[in-house]
Order: sequence, then structure tokens, then C-alpha cells
Amino acid sequence: MLNFLLSIIYWRTRIKLKENPLAILYFHHVFEHNNEYHPDDIIADEFDRKIKFLNKHFNILTMSEAMEKLEAKQLPPKALVITFDDGYQDNFTIAAPILKKHNCPSTFFISTSGVDKGYLWNDEVEQLISNTSVKKISAKIIGEQILIENQDDKINAFQQLLSKLKFLSHNERTIQIKRLKDELGDVEFQRTMMTHEQIKQLHQDGFTIGAHTHSHTILTTETIDICREELLKNKNSLEATINDSIKYIAFPNGLFERDYQQKHYGIAKEMNFQAGFSTNDGGAISLTNTYTIPRFMPYRKQLSLFALSIAKIAGEHV
Ligand SMILES: [Zn+2]
Repeated sequence: MLNFLLSIIYWRTRIKLKENPLAILYFHHVFEHNNEYHPDDIIADEFDRKIKFLNKHFNILTMSEAMEKLEAKQLPPKALVITFDDGYQDNFTIAAPILKKHNCPSTFFISTSGVDKGYLWNDEVEQLISNTSVKKISAKIIGEQILIENQDDKINAFQQLLSKLKFLSHNERTIQIKRLKDELGDVEFQRTMMTHEQIKQLHQDGFTIGAHTHSHTILTTETIDICREELLKNKNSLEATINDSIKYIAFPNGLFERDYQQKHYGIAKEMNFQAGFSTNDGGAISLTNTYTIPRFMPYRKQLSLFALSIAKIAGEHV
């Protein structure tokens, strides 16, 4: 029944768009167990089930196969690409073994400052909040006081801080995180990100490595010179690690126009990136701008509804 419904949706899309669309999914963490600070991230068992299921009902392609077929209007029906953003260590320890088990290709877009330091700025915020016994965060950080008296408060505070701090420039954010350290007490941060060695291993195992800026900063918050530096540093670092060229970039936060603009993908183009990926909903066809290729993640947990959502969103060409 599901296969029949999927075929109908893709058949209708093909009539409307005159070609099969490409759906690209994005994941972040894959945790061993539920993580209260990251309610939207998937856990290992569910990821295993999902990949097995997607492999059965879709045509999962490598990024380079997908890009070639997209350009040549030769995508098969139900074409799908799996991607991961940021470069978390669980991508190596938990996701990659599951992907290998199902023979499923995937692309990992990685922010290299996190690889060098061991963690990204959002991990610092999380670890500062989760480890502190201080009961409040002053209005100096995001303009209003936040109580952190219990676990629920802490999780809400984390989300609230993230949603504000991510729209600051890298320098402004660093100042605010320094203030947060002064208020909550510094901690020894735990590594959350992959190492260069692990990235190299993923590449050797046949996975695709992609760019995601050095510091994971939203490009519209930075000057154009800083953006150029962010892209170049990230690309050079990853290329040195895998000893191969980095062809693809996923823009941090990724909403085209709000989080990055034409001038930003212009830099990516100059640097010989062959394609750039957003987080706008929709599928890609040959007419889609190569530097605003949409990616999405349906919220549906039930597997059939998850598959039907993918089919539907893929048919909404933007
Ligand atoms: Zn990201």
C-alpha cells in the first residue's frame, strides 16, 4: 500500500515538474538514548529503523551521483540523499556503523572549529548550564533574566539562549559566552565533535565530507570578509584532513535570504564549491539554483507518514 501511494505521488510530481525531484534529508545528532537537551534529535534504534525503511522504499544516492543525475534530469523516482550537519562525534560512533550496515551513503557537513577545539559554541552553552549550581542567568546575556532552578528550567534556558545567541556575530557571541562562564562558573568542556582522524576515516569508508563554515556562524551576521575567511578556513582544513577536494557546502542554519544570501554563495562559487545546500523545505530539480538546494526533515515519527511527507515535500519545487 505504501509503495503504491509513493508511486502515485511521484508520478503526479513527474507530470507536474517533467522530471523526478531530489529529496535531501538532514540529521544532526544520533544519540544512544533520549537526550532532554535535544528533543528533536534521533536515537540509535529509531535511526536504524528509519534507514532500513528508507533504503527499502527510496533510491538512496551518494551526493555526487545525485548531483550528476539532477543536472542531467535523470534522477530515478524516489531519489533521496542523507546528510548530517555540524560533525558530531556520534555521527562517527553511532550513525556511521548503522549506515554501513545498511549500505547507505551519506554526506557529513562539518564545522572545523568544533573539530579543532572539541566542541561548538552551543555545546559550551549546554555544558555551562547543565553543570552549574547557580540558579539564574542575568539579563546581561540576552536582555532578560532566566531562572535555572531545576532541570526543566535548564532545558528551556538552553533553548532560549540558543535561539538568541545564534543570531549574533561570532565575536559578539564569544563575548556573551564569556559572560555566561563568569556567571555560571567555568567547566572543563567535554568533546562532542569528531576528530580529524575520524573525519579521515569516514572519507576512507566512502562517505562524503562537506563544508559547514569554520565557526558555525550565520553568514548574514558577519562582514563579507569574515564570511570569506570562514569558508576558506573550513575548506582548507577539511581538504588537508581527507586529502581530497571538498565540493559541497551546507550553510549554517541555512534559511536562504535570512541566514545566507546570493553574495555568500557567490563566495562559495568562487572557491569552487560545486553546490550549496539550504534548510528551506522542498525538492530539487534541474532548474533549482545549485547554491540554494533545499534540504528538510519531516517531523513525522510513524514510518509510513514519514515516507509520505518526504514524497510530498520533494514535489514542492522551490
Ligand atoms: Zn549546523
